[in-house]
Amino acid sequence: MSHRKCVYPGTFDPFTMGHLDILCRASKIFDHVTVGLLVNIKKTPVFSLEERARLIEESARGAGLGNFSVTSFNGLLVDFCREQGAGVIIRGLRAVSDYEYELQIAAMNRRLAPEVETLCMMTDAQYAYLSSSIVREIGSYGGSLKGMIPPETEEYISERLLKK
Ligand code: ADP
Repeated sequence: MSHRKCVYPGTFDPFTMGHLDILCRASKIFDHVTVGLLVNIKKTPVFSLEERARLIEESARGAGLGNFSVTSFNGLLVDFCREQGAGVIIRGLRAVSDYEYELQIAAMNRRLAPEVETLCMMTDAQYAYLSSSIVREIGSYGGSLKGMIPPETEEYISERLLKK
């Protein structure tokens, strides 16, 4: 298990500029970032697993990233980290409201796997109020998503959310 490799887990329904900002910054620090697409969740995502994976890949390649991969996973995040040989979990922090939840998850993950470290990165201020659910809501009413999602994915996501 390497501390030069990290996992960036999430639902990414869909992948936003806030997610991309964290991914870009993590890719500068780590040799490799595995974007972990969560399969088994309580909420039913709007975008399929395949769509979400493709949108992340297009966004990351559009930003010029090379040292990343996208892999879906089921079950415990720490087990996925072990499988990937990644010693670090990356999470993005926006407002104080994110903090309590992240603290709880990080504490639980440390209990399950003390060898895996959780690293929280602060969002860029311009993305502090950006979330996948806001994107889904605005998109479903036909509002412009410019600047909220990576430009390569704008057309597809806008059309897809309108049709939903
Ligand atoms: P989850 O269901 O695990 O919260 P998300 O796809 O909503 O998955 O988010 C994945 C990660 O990205 C989380 O760590 C979340 O805090 C972070 N994140 C979400 N939106 C932003 C943003 N605008 N800026 C920075 N980080 C963000």
